[in-house]
Amino acid sequence: MLPAARECAKRCLRERGQTCPDLSLVGSHESHSSTWRLTSSQASEACSIVSAIRFEELQTIWKSPEVSEDSLAKQHGAEIHPGMNFMLARERIEKSKLFKIMRKFPKGALLHAHLSAMVDVRWLMEMVLEEIDGMHISADKPLSTLEARTTETLTFIYRSSSRNLSSESIWTDKYIPGSYIPLRDAADSFPDGGREGFVTFFVNLASISLEEAVKAHVGPCAVWQRFQACFEPLDSLMSYEPIRRRHLQQLFKDLMDDGVRYVDIRSTFMFKWQPTGSEEYLPPFEGYRESIRVLQEEIIEFQKTEEGTGFWGARMIWTVLRSLDNRAIIEGMKDCIDIKVDYPDMIAGFDFVGHEDAGRTLSDLTPLIFWFRKQCAAEQVNIPFFFHAGETLGTGDETDHNLFDAIALGTRRLGHAYSLYKHPLLMNMVKDKRVLVECCPISNEMLRYTTSMQNHPLPALLAQGVQVALCNDDPAILGRYRVGMSHDYYQAIQALDNLGLEGLGAMAENSVRWAAFEDLSPKDWLDDVNGGAYSKVGKRLRAKRMREWKNSWEKFCQWILIEYGTMDYGLGGEGEDAVGDEEIMAVLEAAGRSAGGADEEAQAGPSQAGPSGTRR
Ligand SMILES: [Zn+2]
Repeated sequence: MLPAARECAKRCLRERGQTCPDLSLVGSHESHSSTWRLTSSQASEACSIVSAIRFEELQTIWKSPEVSEDSLAKQHGAEIHPGMNFMLARERIEKSKLFKIMRKFPKGALLHAHLSAMVDVRWLMEMVLEEIDGMHISADKPLSTLEARTTETLTFIYRSSSRNLSSESIWTDKYIPGSYIPLRDAADSFPDGGREGFVTFFVNLASISLEEAVKAHVGPCAVWQRFQACFEPLDSLMSYEPIRRRHLQQLFKDLMDDGVRYVDIRSTFMFKWQPTGSEEYLPPFEGYRESIRVLQEEIIEFQKTEEGTGFWGARMIWTVLRSLDNRAIIEGMKDCIDIKVDYPDMIAGFDFVGHEDAGRTLSDLTPLIFWFRKQCAAEQVNIPFFFHAGETLGTGDETDHNLFDAIALGTRRLGHAYSLYKHPLLMNMVKDKRVLVECCPISNEMLRYTTSMQNHPLPALLAQGVQVALCNDDPAILGRYRVGMSHDYYQAIQALDNLGLEGLGAMAENSVRWAAFEDLSPKDWLDDVNGGAYSKVGKRLRAKRMREWKNSWEKFCQWILIEYGTMDYGLGGEGEDAVGDEEIMAVLEAAGRSAGGADEEAQAGPSQAGPSGTRR
């Protein structure tokens, strides 16, 4: 290749992958300055390298002519494109270089995730079958047909004795409803593939399958029904203390592996609790309190391990189903306050959960919310709100209005806020009041709020300067099978042309800035969030952790330079995996232009060429 052409190709690669400051440098504030700045030339270089890698994979994985001919496209009749249906794209994503980088990304804090859905479902059932003695399964009807297996409620329970044991297989008509079968026996005799088939059956029962994910004509209500049904078998299995303890250890390990050092966990306190070795469930409140004690113990245990070094911990946002009646909600609120008194460090906040369109509005719940506030004051506990709001396609309807009410009620963050982008004045208020949006892009897609990442309102929020952190909501149930945030990070950076590594960096830093590390009064919370790495509020946890995060960000950028800096993406020297002249030419040819044309394209700006060089 001629040197001039090579230069052109380099510039093309570099500029086509360039990030636009309107998205990547907004939404986070150091003290009171208005933009997020890259901290070093090393970070700046790492961002350029990742942009180039992203661009290369855009051409080779997502847009090349061969891609539209590959088996995935043929099998599903789908066009392959970045940000496409997540479940179809998942395997392709996981093989990419960019995903490897996302796995390493220091993500700081996970601010929005629901405990029962934070588990690798396959790992869970395999672990129970392997390690937990005495587990049994029971059903209300014989599970002799496929329909019965997928519609009947399964109960998993620990039994030390043979009381109520049935000798009849649960998979035949002879099974006596309500009797217990040893779980290992049931799994081994599963009619469709024995133990391995049983594990797959459980995975399909407790998570949204590929087939369900691609039924785009099914709306949010139908998907929500299926989604909510996934929680039952998971909650039942994890109600036995030894299983929950192992789950928590694995969860913290998986989070650390994914670069997540802290988590504000949401959990709905409607589960049963069976202590180790006991055949009885505890009364509900006792069970909830035990679960919090176990959570606290397991955090401490994990922090003592080598893998747990550097784990900042976890706190609980107590959640109540928004569809419940007044009496049940008041009960839940009372339980939350009582457990906060016993475990003040563990309860970080309060929220309502469930299908927002189908449940009660915040306006309807306001009298109960005021009662809760009054009770908290009487008990001298501080339990702030972290409300789900605006997780809807509605515009101007009651669910959409939850956003206004959540702000009026003093929420410190907004869960989803999917419809917020339609309200410019409210966005200004969200910015002024320093309320962060917990954005869960893959969850929004899987629950039918958007058809793909490219339709998601995230860039609209960022462009308006709204503070956002990426979160994963219900990772195991909604398509990711693992508990980290790498897939959500990948979808955002690959689907949005002008986000860039620095855009992800800004959102990761936001997650640390808005994490509920400790109890703070409304004024202290605001001062702490604004002070960030320089805050002197409370135990100064935020300042310490923001500095730690920044160190891990710099180390990550350094890793990118070491790992990929020698590659020739038009940015540095040539290494083992360097992109050769032929490859650069192939990229340019795939984009349908000569080196000279590429130069013109680069001059014209990064966002005008579409797949195969066609203009959009
Ligand atoms: Zn949620």
